[in-house]
Parts: sequence; structure tokens; C-alpha cells
Amino acid sequence: MKLFQSTAITFIAGTIVSASAFTSSTSAFIPHLARSNVRASSSTMQMVADDAKVILVTGSSRGLGRSIAIELGSLGQKVVVNYAGSKDAAEETVAAVKAAGGDAIAIQANCANPDEIKDMFQGATDAFGTVDVLINNAGITKDTLVMRMKPDQWQDVIDVNLSGVFYCTQAFFKLAMKKRTGRIINISSVVGQIGNPGQANYAAAKAGVIGLTMSNAKEFSARGITVNCVCPGFIESDMTAKLSPEYLETVCKGIPAGRLGKPEEVAGLTRFLALDPAADYITGHCFNVDGGIAIGS
Ligand code: NAP
Repeated sequence: MKLFQSTAITFIAGTIVSASAFTSSTSAFIPHLARSNVRASSSTMQMVADDAKVILVTGSSRGLGRSIAIELGSLGQKVVVNYAGSKDAAEETVAAVKAAGGDAIAIQANCANPDEIKDMFQGATDAFGTVDVLINNAGITKDTLVMRMKPDQWQDVIDVNLSGVFYCTQAFFKLAMKKRTGRIINISSVVGQIGNPGQANYAAAKAGVIGLTMSNAKEFSARGITVNCVCPGFIESDMTAKLSPEYLETVCKGIPAGRLGKPEEVAGLTRFLALDPAADYITGHCFNVDGGIAIGS
């Protein structure tokens, strides 16, 4: 159900392809972003922070990415909503970010394709002038046991979940190194820390993201750029909706909190790492939002 109209400026490979009128509402702000930093446009009632950061969230048409985008919107930030194929969902995220008090555009780009990533960053800088924060969230699963896994099932997951993070990081670094400031948050997974039967491709990609995070943190620190990882456990989204209720019931038995997580619970930590001044001295680390599933690992 659509609760509001949206301005959905959609880029495909860096080109605006659609736009429509919007309305929006006010929102809550965390304490360190004082209300004086927020301006309201009389024509739109939109509230964007004067010191708003431009934050590119890959794969934010749905799931965790969408929740992260809306959380950032509620702080009056400017969000670039990247998606692969779900244009309508991306436009709804754009509308929700604006309704929450931020600004947003949608850009279609396949994170596994370095040329499309280049165009996406060009589109983002054309629209907002720069990109201050990169949240590498886009991800897919192609689960099956190792013995049955076809080369394309292996490769597709590596391409999006690992190579995509590398391509986006490289494109972001070109911008951030000149400014000598920036933050990167990589959404990995507990599966990259503890493994999971049927997810060898996914576990390898997500473990790779953790290694990439640590290397990039060491490489980029001298340029004032922090790089951190968020490792969600099992979180309610389209990704986990594919799993059978029986499997999820078994999974929940192994989660000390006894339930799946919510996308908003991942968004809260991601917001802290992306924006809070207290996160300036945190780099190269993984933080779990997993209800305790990886305790002891
Ligand atoms: P989801 O609901 O399936 O959403 C995936 C998002 O990624 C969508 O916005 C999708 O865009 C986008 N995407 C997929 N392939 C892409 C590509 N090649 N290029 C650009 N965007 C692409 O997944 P989710 O559960 O929110 O997961 C988000 C991230 O959290 C993933 O990295 C996932 O591995 C990680 N994670 C999730 C869980 C969990 O339990 N849900 C746990 C640990 C880690 P379209 O809508 O256009 O397809």
C-alpha cells in the first residue's frame, strides 16, 4: 500500500529516467544532530540537515538496505538508493526516506559490474555533489550443498557479495581520498564468521568481505577513512523469507535471543558507524547484530 506520493528520481546507468511530485512529514532526530542543523523547505515540508551527508546504500530497494536508508532519512541525510531490478521498490524507498525527513534519489546499477558502479557514482555526484559514506549492503543467496553447487551459483554470489563490495569501495575511495574523510560500512554476515551448510558460496563471500574490511581499514586510515563491518545474524527480510518455517524454527533454537532480528536493529548500528562522531576512532572491526547466535565463535 502506498501511503504517500514520492519524488522518485531514478537513474539508469547515471541517467535520470523518471520523476514525480512528493509530499513528506517531519521525523525524529538523534541528539547529536541538533534541530538547528535541520532546515525545512516551505514548499515540500521536507527537512534536510544543513550538514547532511550523502550516503550511498547499495541494495536499498528492499530489506536491510531499505531500513538503513529510512533510518538515515530520519536524520535528515541525503541517501542514494541503489537497486538491481526492483525499480518500484526503490522508488518507494526514496519516498519513505523523504517522508522520514531526508532527501533521496534512486540509481539502478548492478554492483557486480564495475562500469555500472562507475556510472552510479557519477550519477550520485551529479545529483548531490559528492558521496560521504558508502554502505555496501547489496547481497544475494544461491544456496545449495557443495556437491550440487554449479559454477554459476558459486560465481554469481561471489560477484555480487564480494566483488561488488570491492568495486564500490574503489569508486568511493577515489572521491574520499581527495577529501581525506569518509566512512565505509560493509554488511557481511555471521555466516562469514561461523559458516553454514548449503551456503559455501555465501560464507566465502562474506568472510572475504571481513578480510577486505580489515585490509581497507589499514590502507585507508592515513586518508581519514574508516572501514567497518556489520555482521547480521538471521534477520527478517525477503532473503530469509525464502527459508522454510521448519528450518527457521530450528535456527531460532540456536539463537540465544530466541527470535529473528529486525532490519531496524541492523539499521541502528549502521547509523552509528556511518554518522556518529563517536565512531571516528573505530576502524577495521566487525560488529554483530545477531541475537547472540555467534557467541563464542
Ligand atoms: P534482500 O531483502 O534480498 O534485499 C537485497 C537487496 O540487494 C535488494 O535491494 C536488491 O535489489 C539488492 N541487490 C541484489 N543484487 C544486487 C546487485 N547485483 N546489484 C545491486 N543491488 C543488488 O536481502 P537482505 O536480507 O535485505 O540482505 C541485505 C544484506 O544483508 C545482504 O548483503 C545480505 O547478505 C546481508 N545479510 C542479511 C541477513 C538476513 O538474515 N536477511 C543476514 C546477514 C546478512 P533489487 O530489489 O533490485 O533486487
